[in-house]
Amino acid sequence: MSAPSSPLTVAIVGAGPSGFFAADALLKARDDVRVDLFDRLPTPFGLVRYGVAPDHAKIKAVTRTFEATLRDSRVRFFGNVDVGRDVTVDELRARAHAVVLSVGASSDRSLGIEGEDLAGSLSATEFVAWYNGHPEYADLAPDLSGRHAVVVGVGNVAVDVARVLAKSVDELRGTDVADHALEALAESRIETVTMLGRRGPAQAKWTTKELRELGALANADLEVDPADLDLDPASQRAVEADAAQGRNLAFLREAAATPPAGKPRTLRLRFLASPTRLLGRDGHVHQMIVGRNRLEDRDGYLAAVATGEEETLGADLVLRSVGYRGVPLPGVPFDAKRGVIPSDGDQVTHEDGTPVSGVYVCGWIGRGPSGVIGTNKPDAVHTVEALLGDPHLPEPDDPSDAAIPALLDARGVRWFDADAWHALDAVERAAGEAAGRPRVKVTSREAMLDAADGARLDA
Ligand SMILES: Cc1cc2nc3c(=O)[nH]c(=O)nc-3n(C[C@H](O)[C@H](O)[C@H](O)COP(=O)(O)OP(=O)(O)OC[C@H]3O[C@@H](n4cnc5c(N)ncnc54)[C@H](O)[C@@H]3O)c2cc1C
Repeated sequence: MSAPSSPLTVAIVGAGPSGFFAADALLKARDDVRVDLFDRLPTPFGLVRYGVAPDHAKIKAVTRTFEATLRDSRVRFFGNVDVGRDVTVDELRARAHAVVLSVGASSDRSLGIEGEDLAGSLSATEFVAWYNGHPEYADLAPDLSGRHAVVVGVGNVAVDVARVLAKSVDELRGTDVADHALEALAESRIETVTMLGRRGPAQAKWTTKELRELGALANADLEVDPADLDLDPASQRAVEADAAQGRNLAFLREAAATPPAGKPRTLRLRFLASPTRLLGRDGHVHQMIVGRNRLEDRDGYLAAVATGEEETLGADLVLRSVGYRGVPLPGVPFDAKRGVIPSDGDQVTHEDGTPVSGVYVCGWIGRGPSGVIGTNKPDAVHTVEALLGDPHLPEPDDPSDAAIPALLDARGVRWFDADAWHALDAVERAAGEAAGRPRVKVTSREAMLDAADGARLDA
């Protein structure tokens, strides 16, 4: 097998953290490389822009590193290109030596209970995308006119949405939360936000920092039922063996013992509780039937088992946060059970386990939707090492610089390059500066394309 022609050309599909970490690893490993980063949205950074909570600005600072990658002359950005719809993965394979798929996990898991489709019952995925100004969710208009919100789940995303619902609008004003969300949250009549954990407090996956943040909200008292903190022996052992869980439990015990300060809202944590049915009134969710669980040790895994005991909770808004899920990319193998693109850890594999020539995967779509931004770095680096060590990389038909722009132009795709993104970025930051905010996000795809064009014409 001869060495691939120079420069090595790699198309990365998905400009989220894993795509950027893969691009960076390629740039560091080789001088003679051309990296083409594609995203279906005009904007780069994936869930850093559209997932991470607006009041966690520091976490978003990782985009500075990604910006440096984007400004490297060996990198080209092709935003507003939906791979699978506008161009196929095979068309990219014909124009690059290798393709890395890093499309993330954009869908979510459902609860599978009666009433889930009622108005007012949404996924946290949609709600998060809405408050973060994702162009496809700008019109979601969640109904915040009721008194009771219930968030199903106690993971990081559930914590984010509960916190955003519990905060006063003044606490969010200085962030990059979408304008439409700021306006809607200003009118919110929500008084209680209840988070439901299927298992016990010792199994919740939150960090002590996240928990402390919930306890320090200016606008909401944290309420924990002390009875929920009586641990079964297996949970007690788990807490004793894990310092972080020990700290979390100590925090929850302190919260349970603290009387409410009479803040406008209450954030209630409930454990060993699963929604079993949503009840509606005039087609809108109104109440939730919640089943009580107990834990059962199954080979070391403490599973939630329904006790049959039930209670009714007021629920005018229900946000399920029980996991993200990958969606298939046309023309690429997909493991529908796990919601991931199958691979040997790096290279995509067919159903029979044989490798797909020149096609690699990293990030949430390869591993499944877990892990923080930093978790994607070693994953992407490993994938790039495998790619660079691949003795069977196919020689593309046309790896020339002109081939991909020509294909997109021939298709009439209005693609967004790095200059266009930087023009849009400048528009958003300037609007933010005027309003004392990090940025004011442009939230419609058309307006993004126009803002970038306008800013470039003005420059
Ligand atoms: C609500 C939420 C909050 C989070 N908060 C934090 C946090 O505070 N701190 C932290 O460290 N981690 C946080 N995470 C986790 C972190 O966001 C993920 O680990 C990380 O974003 C996964 O990176 P990824 O590149 O695999 O996927 P993504 O970030 O989802 O990026 C995938 C990219 O692929 C693009 N894409 C999808 N399909 C196509 C297609 N067909 N063609 C072209 N492009 C496509 C998408 O538009 C997207 O830009 C959070 C996650 C969520 C969901």
